Amino acid sequence: MAPIRNARVLFSSVPKDFPVPGETTVYDTSQTIDIDTVPLNGGFLIKTLVLSVDPYFRGRMREPEAESYSSSFPLGESLDGYGVGKIIRSEDSAFPAGKYVYGPSLPHQEYSVLSSNPDSDMMFIIEKDPKLPWTAFVGVAGMPGQTAYMAWKEYSNAKKGEIAFVSTGAGPVGSMVIQLAKRDGLRVIACAGSDEKVKFMKDIGADIAFNYKTTDTREVLKKEGPIDIYWDNVGGVILDAALEFTAVYGRFLICGMISGYNTGLKGIKNLALAYPKSITLHGILIFRLFSKYKDEFYATVPPLLASGEIKYKEDVSRGLETVGDVILAVQEGRNNGKAVVIVAEE
Ligand code: NAP
Repeated sequence: MAPIRNARVLFSSVPKDFPVPGETTVYDTSQTIDIDTVPLNGGFLIKTLVLSVDPYFRGRMREPEAESYSSSFPLGESLDGYGVGKIIRSEDSAFPAGKYVYGPSLPHQEYSVLSSNPDSDMMFIIEKDPKLPWTAFVGVAGMPGQTAYMAWKEYSNAKKGEIAFVSTGAGPVGSMVIQLAKRDGLRVIACAGSDEKVKFMKDIGADIAFNYKTTDTREVLKKEGPIDIYWDNVGGVILDAALEFTAVYGRFLICGMISGYNTGLKGIKNLALAYPKSITLHGILIFRLFSKYKDEFYATVPPLLASGEIKYKEDVSRGLETVGDVILAVQEGRNNGKAVVIVAEE
């Protein structure tokens, strides 16, 4: 077969604050690939089906010398992230042609040659559940859902009747946390940035749901608290309010601080309350919990999603050319559900 287009999304410059589609990332169609003859070098060739666009992308859009828990995107090369692809040729018996692969570093291109890493269990063959779309496997049944499930199990020490507060409660992490907390018998307070998201949080069981842009978080927590568990996705003034209105022995699960990803973190004044209130603070990184809970997660969560016992919402866009806009939408809070990009049908 003659070479065909192998479109991709390049990381082209470090954003000053928010990412700029077409400038910090560029959709590029100049690359071609001969899928019959491209050398595999012991690896395997995939056709990319779905890609996840996540908040942590902003942290990877940095100068390479800036240290972080994740690697920076190499300038001038394709972005990469969580995704699902169909294996179309293989020289690796663990990843045979015809199967589907899930992994954390799928290049944002239509086709890619991958190689397995014997030291990591984060890329693996994944079986499709006939009741779930592939998009779910990069969202609630993928990394964000795993973060919620695994860290809630590991750190929440939740007890029936306690009060949990969840920020970014309408996203894939927060919405899973709300539902896990309800299943454990907690009263749940949750916030998000639009009235539509507030409705979704109520629909999935939040007892108190509010729009933090139009309602003062401090007033809600003063009235409905004190809280026993705070799941923090945002940092900043919402974290500060949670510190103020937490109960003694409050547990803080620090998952992310998106309010500071683009313009810097502001607003933490109440950390001094950590010792009089004996607050425990757990920092979460999914890859430190993944191996411990991987089998349990896949045995438990996809069936709960397929049966509708746990609900989820997706914001699906189509085509690699949309990735730049989706990255910005997630940072600005314009995604309404898990942001996923369908690159190709099977
Ligand atoms: P998401 O909800 O799909 O998207 C991000 C959301 O963040 C936006 O929709 C927006 O929702 C909110 N946001 C943006 N700017 C904000 C601001 N200035 N203040 C408050 N909220 C803001 O995201 P997700 O995938 O569920 O991730 C949620 C958090 O978990 C993020 O902080 C992410 O970095 C973190 N995370 C951490 C790990 C880990 O291993 N530690 C793994 C996965 C995710 P609103 O409309 O509600 O503002």
